[in-house]
Amino acid sequence: MKIAITSVGPTLDDPVEARFGRCPYFVVVDTDSMQFEAIENPNVALGGGAGIQSAQLMAEKGVEAVLTGNCGPNAFQVFNAAGIQVIVGVNGKLRDVVSDFNQGAFSTTSQANVPSHFGMGASPLVADPAAGGMGMGGGRGMGMGRGMGMGRGRFSGTDAGPFDLPGAVPGADRESLRAQAKVLEDQLKSINEKIAGLKNTGPAQGLIAVVDLMKCNGCGLCVDACPPGAIAINEQAEVAREKCTGCALCITACPEDALSLKARR
Ligand code: SF4
Ligand code: SF4
Repeated sequence: MKIAITSVGPTLDDPVEARFGRCPYFVVVDTDSMQFEAIENPNVALGGGAGIQSAQLMAEKGVEAVLTGNCGPNAFQVFNAAGIQVIVGVNGKLRDVVSDFNQGAFSTTSQANVPSHFGMGASPLVADPAAGGMGMGGGRGMGMGRGMGMGRGRFSGTDAGPFDLPGAVPGADRESLRAQAKVLEDQLKSINEKIAGLKNTGPAQGLIAVVDLMKCNGCGLCVDACPPGAIAINEQAEVAREKCTGCALCITACPEDALSLKARR
């Protein structure tokens, strides 16, 4: 079986790293042959999304289970979707962890045991044996505090129970992901319809962007979206008539729905 363990270093004699997304190394081990590959984590310095990126990396590597100290909700969602088992509260030397794994000493978890952005501060280096599945303490900086898990001790995840079959996704989580996907799908459809409608009556008819000052908060996102540089921020967005081509790109960029097109006069 191919498993990945978050590690402080690149060998089987290094200790487990408590953080998942920003661990220095992922050590992927074949539990039958003990052959392993140490992968330097490319996501250590990411400002955000390290958990998701690292979880996707594990999926690309084809691992069936991930063993770590703590795992946040974003990474956990990816693992669920990919059918990768997660074991938290793990610590000790990697070689011993694999041995314990082979003896069935671990149980998987069914939920994240720390909040989002756990471990964005300085590294706690190794999992805290006292923390176990609770995810208490851990890193300094953002994400300190009590996690959401329930297990105790080194070998307990948060959900006692045998390994599920690879590829299985708990029913409740699957429904939650489906619901989120549906919302995103509807939003995308609505945006595309809006763009299509604007194209039909677009720049050829001499349109220009206008700003609803009751809605504009001056965030400036439309400035970056405007190809000819027709928008400036003077507390709120202002559109230069001579530059605007009516392309509508600013409309899709505005989070406040403060922009629209109107016919030039
Ligand atoms: S993106 Fe929208 S809210 Fe932000 S400055 Fe532009 S018009 Fe205003
Ligand atoms: S419609 Fe196009 S050109 Fe005009 S302000 Fe918006 S992004 Fe810029």
